[in-house]
Amino acid sequence: MNKEAIILEESTLDPGNWEAMKELGHRMLDDMFAYLQSVRGRPAWKKPSAYAVSSLQAPLPQLPQEPSEVYEDFFTQVLPYNTNNIHPRFWAWVQGGGTPFGMLADMLASGMNANVSIGDHIPMQVEKQVIEWSKEMMGFPSTAGGLLVGGCSLANITALIVARNHFHQSVRQKGLRAVPAQMIVYGSAETHNCVVKGVEVIGLGSENFRKVPVNDDYRIDIDELQRMIDEDRAAGHLPFCIIGNAGTVNTGAIDPLESLAAIAKKEKCWFHVDGAFGAIPRILPEFNDRLKGIELADSLGFDFHKWLYVNYEVACVLIRDASIHREAFATSVNYLLGHERGLSGGPDPFNNYGMELSRGFKALKVWMSLKEHGIQKYRQMVRQNLRQTQYLAGLVELDPELELMADVPLNIVCFRFNPGNFDDETLNRINKEVLMRLQEEGIAAPSYTLLHGKYVIRVANTNHRSRLEDFDVLTAETVRIGREVAGEIL
Ligand SMILES: *Cc1c(COP(=O)(O)O)cnc(C)c1O
Repeated sequence: MNKEAIILEESTLDPGNWEAMKELGHRMLDDMFAYLQSVRGRPAWKKPSAYAVSSLQAPLPQLPQEPSEVYEDFFTQVLPYNTNNIHPRFWAWVQGGGTPFGMLADMLASGMNANVSIGDHIPMQVEKQVIEWSKEMMGFPSTAGGLLVGGCSLANITALIVARNHFHQSVRQKGLRAVPAQMIVYGSAETHNCVVKGVEVIGLGSENFRKVPVNDDYRIDIDELQRMIDEDRAAGHLPFCIIGNAGTVNTGAIDPLESLAAIAKKEKCWFHVDGAFGAIPRILPEFNDRLKGIELADSLGFDFHKWLYVNYEVACVLIRDASIHREAFATSVNYLLGHERGLSGGPDPFNNYGMELSRGFKALKVWMSLKEHGIQKYRQMVRQNLRQTQYLAGLVELDPELELMADVPLNIVCFRFNPGNFDDETLNRINKEVLMRLQEEGIAAPSYTLLHGKYVIRVANTNHRSRLEDFDVLTAETVRIGREVAGEIL
């Protein structure tokens, strides 16, 4: 081995010119601040240009490119065609808008490059702190277990894995064949699709998720749930888990969580609450009654990146009994054993509480954001969104050409353009066209859903940049475009 020759070849991925990289970094920061500050003046959505799309179908780069040139590619081909949930009139699906301070926190986390999995280092403690705060917000006991994950989909799936592994102690070793009969999960027909995926992931199959019918208010029909459980028991099946929705994705309906908790207790079922966004108003005293029962759940999933406005991506799963949580995932392999001292000392590794081993430092942006604003400010913002939502519902109801399509129990408004002289099928076509034009013209970006076969324009307001005037724009423009489209159809 020729040491000299190896030294001559030695290299690193750090910049050759730190000064130039620093200067570029400062320019990026300036550009991003300018971008965020000026967001209101840009369209709510813009279709990616053909040029931008084709620039992303290039072959694998073989040779180096100057960082400033790479940044130029980002600035011209990527940044202009953002999802754009940062825009004040973005209300599609359920997406939060992030914050400038959250952006900075992500930069710090990435600079540290912390792997928040195992070891004695402070990022582990930051995540534990965020989990403690999460329990406090959601009324979970301080003895509960928890974990930050990428989104509520994963939070729900993690909870389902814990529920399954707890239901039958040999599932981890022997698989589902150890269970003598078919395990069944129950949730309303309005339950988010990711829960059904979770039922598939834990090996039960989606046919063993019982979609319990809902009432007119889209809340689960409790009597029907009880009937289905009885029926399954009579058939020799094993009811094992009940899902409660704190805010359904379609309309924001909140299931009667306390009643569900009581049924789960009586039936010895696990009770999981999907509170992706709808659990957040639990920080408001005026929601004590409506969200009562969350604190009784065996597990809860909720997002920080939706209604707590933290930058993508971060969610939390809480498990009432930390030891049950640990039993579902803990392993003891030689290369991950804890030590009394040194780097391998420190808190219980997070990989004992979930599927991931390597994990990023997503706790930092949550920790920094909650400290930046304090929970009082979040209360104010969530209330603001709720008031705006009621205002929008009021605008819809006042307008003879608009129709409110569902109750508005939370922050979601479903409505349609309906001048009164079309059948449902035509209205479906008109409203789909209206929505596409609202987006293409850059006016606003709501999304849609079908309620009883009727196409509705759907606004989910988790937007801390929206103002009342934005909802005036939405309704006025919906009517203008609606008339335009209806005129073309006639
Ligand atoms: C968004 C949502 C989910 C999924 O959460 P992600 O963070 O997108 O993974 C689950 N349930 C409900 C009710 C949701 O609104």
